[in-house]
Formats: sequence, structure tokens, C-alpha cells
Amino acid sequence: MHDLAEGVQRFQRDVFPGQAGLFERLATTHRPTALFIGCSDARVVPELITQRAPGELFVIRTAGNLVPAYAPGADGVAASIEYAVGVLDVTDVIVCGHSACGAMTSLALRHDLTGLPAVADWLRHAEAARSRTTAQADGAEEAGEVAGLVRANVLSQLANLATHPSVARALAQNTVTLHGWVYDIGTGAMEELDAATGRFTALAA
Ligand code: ZN
Repeated sequence: MHDLAEGVQRFQRDVFPGQAGLFERLATTHRPTALFIGCSDARVVPELITQRAPGELFVIRTAGNLVPAYAPGADGVAASIEYAVGVLDVTDVIVCGHSACGAMTSLALRHDLTGLPAVADWLRHAEAARSRTTAQADGAEEAGEVAGLVRANVLSQLANLATHPSVARALAQNTVTLHGWVYDIGTGAMEELDAATGRFTALAA
């Protein structure tokens, strides 16, 4: 905890003064252009890997970058999506999976989650992705199974995302574009989903 407080002091002393103009503007303006939905994993830092400044990315981070399909009795994820798309009018939404994802690993390798009932419950939102990969991954290496599920999960969560009314409306009006990305922690490489082929290829600038 001491490290965090020290970090705040360093930010106030060394970082803030150099960007005081930006922060003064941001104090009364919130106009991010993209919604980034990533994993809570500490190693996947949205603003760092996309080189965005404060105010530019609206971020939702959940375990396994899961987006529950829309349902009555909206939750925090649904509310954040609705606000970003319906009020802030973001033009792009990115669902970003990543290598060595703990959530996807426990699903792919069927870890025993009886001691983690909330996690087990939450990971049901990736059930469609798991169904899609188990058929293909029989006998494959474990790492391959996890990598396959990470990608299938991005596809599934994009489908879930499109069930949210605000997203469905924006898609119908062509005011938002959905993107599927997979980030590799060890190399910094980023892949993007080619919607036409369903395959992931190196992200083009
Ligand atoms: Zn993860």
C-alpha cells in the first residue's frame, strides 16, 4: 500500500504539472472515442498498450474480458456499455483477450472451481466459447487449447455485446464499429479479428 501512496505523490509532483493543461480540460470534458473491454489481469493495461492519454479510452475490465449478454435487471457492465455507446457516443468498441488468461486457462483445462463459486458462475458467460473450442481442440496441447479459447471467447463476447440495445442501435445506424483483439503479454504483439474470415491476424495500423 505504501508503494501506491508513494506513486500518487510521484504523480502529483513529477507528472501532473507537465500535463496540467490536459487535466484542466478533462476536469469539465469527458469525450472518449473508444470503449475498451479488457481482462482485469494486471498485465494487460489498456492505456499503455494502445498509448492513449487520460480521457481517450472508456474502459471496462472484467475477469476474462467477459460481457454478459443483455438481460433484464442490468448489471454494472451493461450500464457502462450503455453509457459509453448511448451517451458518450464512442465510435469504436474493442473486446481484447490476451495470452495466458487465467479465466480462459481454468475453463480450457477444466480446473476445479468449487471453492470459487462467484468465479465459476461468472465464467458461464464464456460457455458458448468453450462449446465452440472443445470440438476442435481434442488432443491438442494445453497451450493451444487456451489460445484457441482466448480467441473463441473474443468472438463470443462480441456476439454478447451486440445483444445490448445501445450497441444494436449504434450498429444499425452504422455509428459504431466492433473490434476483436488478442494481446500477447510476452511479446507485445496484437492480433485483430478479421470479421470476414473469423481469423486473427497481426493488427494493422
Ligand atoms: Zn485474463
